[in-house]
Amino acid sequence: MATVAEVPVLDSVKQFISAPKRLLIGGEWVDAASGRTFATYDPATGGKITDVAHGAAEDVDRAVAAARRAYEGPWGRFTPAERQSLLWRVGDALLARAEEFGQLESIDNGKSAAIAQGVDVVWAANVFHYYAGWATKIEGRTVTPSVPWLPGTEWHAYTLREPVGVCAQIIPWNFPLLMASWKIAPALACGNTVVLKPAEQTPLTALLLGEVFQELGFPEGVFNVVTGYGDAGAALASHDAVDKVAFTGSTEVGKKIVDAAKGNLKKVSLELGGKSPNIVFADADLEAAIAGSANAWLFNHGQCCVAGTRLFVEDSIFDEFTQGVAEFVSQVKVGPGLDPATQLGPLVSQEQLDRVTGYLNQGLADGARALTGGGRIGTTGFYVEPTVLVDVRDDMSVVREEIFGPVVAAMPFSAAEGPVAAANDSEFGLAAGIWTQDLSRAHRVARQLKAGSVWVNSYNAFDTALPFGGYKQSGWGRELGEAALDLYTQTKAVNIQL
Ligand code: NAD
Repeated sequence: MATVAEVPVLDSVKQFISAPKRLLIGGEWVDAASGRTFATYDPATGGKITDVAHGAAEDVDRAVAAARRAYEGPWGRFTPAERQSLLWRVGDALLARAEEFGQLESIDNGKSAAIAQGVDVVWAANVFHYYAGWATKIEGRTVTPSVPWLPGTEWHAYTLREPVGVCAQIIPWNFPLLMASWKIAPALACGNTVVLKPAEQTPLTALLLGEVFQELGFPEGVFNVVTGYGDAGAALASHDAVDKVAFTGSTEVGKKIVDAAKGNLKKVSLELGGKSPNIVFADADLEAAIAGSANAWLFNHGQCCVAGTRLFVEDSIFDEFTQGVAEFVSQVKVGPGLDPATQLGPLVSQEQLDRVTGYLNQGLADGARALTGGGRIGTTGFYVEPTVLVDVRDDMSVVREEIFGPVVAAMPFSAAEGPVAAANDSEFGLAAGIWTQDLSRAHRVARQLKAGSVWVNSYNAFDTALPFGGYKQSGWGRELGEAALDLYTQTKAVNIQL
């Protein structure tokens, strides 16, 4: 796993991390009111990257006030076409600076810089371009009502789709820039203003994005960034001057957001955890299914809410198939994100390393068997071996709980019983995969699975135009696609007597 050839870090990235980072509030870079900072760390080495302002409730107050002023003031006067033009330029700027954003993401999060650049940054740019297009297409309807108790009267009615107002957006560390784009782009396209709270583990690309917003000339206060811990997020979720909170992260914190939002009944949308089933029937194209099923749980080191971490394989091919997956993942090149050969980087933090190895130890103690992997790699950086667990029971924590690491639990199913009942036996319902060459079966099982996204003969195949979100405890609402406009607009009915 030794580093052979790390790509040189760009001067612009070095420059960016050479000084402590501040909060973006009302168009100004400011220190936290407390003057406190916290460190952000490089997961490849565990070393400190830089210090970041430790925002808390007082900073949240300032940011929300700035977002309110922008919403009631200059941003509210922007035409949809003007919003479209600015958002489009955010997408362009991300593409023009993709290497810079990719390297910074890699240093802060641990993921491969090449993947960060080619997937996270390119997709984030696409999200801004996509919602730039929507800004001019948010339309109401005309209705011809008849008021039953006023016979003989004539009416003309229409609906307006108006922004919600000040939006708090709290995001996790697994796709820091991408999760920011999923939330910011539709919110601004619809005419809202934003206070973003990035995860404490990965605050840097959100701050660089703040610089982009400044350079492009967004009015001050349209986009604010308060870096900090969960208390800053909690202050946003409970703030009476916030009209909407959007959250991505753990189901546990999602429930806290719901509680905190009760005060002023702000609108809430949640993208939460998963323990997604990936189902392989014996008639599948096994070569494609092995590679695809490995990608399903290994991509981003398993730190994906959609990760297909419960692998259900038809019993007649179970041994051959799980062995194939184990062999496939044992070839994956693990290393630091800045090494261009790296396919799998370190986990994001010491805490996440402890959590994932804790689950592994528990699973092995409960009787699971690792076909490959099973523990940490080395003693520097937060690396974990890709791990395929078999001989698992459905009451084990490795089967029921979200591990958020490179670990899959594989289970056989019989053709007679089918996989659907076991696949749906989860408190989560975010995503699912089906591998089969039987078209009717693919459609039938896709209907039966309780999941917000279902992939057939593929996994992790996203498009910005497709809605994304969870059944059951995986969330409330749908992001991406046209569906996200519902999260960031409210409908007004205007009824006129003629
Ligand atoms: P988390 O849910 O604690 O953190 C996500 C975000 O919420 C961060 O910005 C955090 O500062 C903020 N936050 C924390 N407490 C808050 C509160 N009370 N009110 C408002 N905001 C708060 O996630 P984590 O601790 O970073 O990771 C723990 C586990 O959560 C992971 O192991 C994984 O299972 C899951 N997770 C899921 C996703 C996802 O995309 N679904 C993303 C990250 C983590």
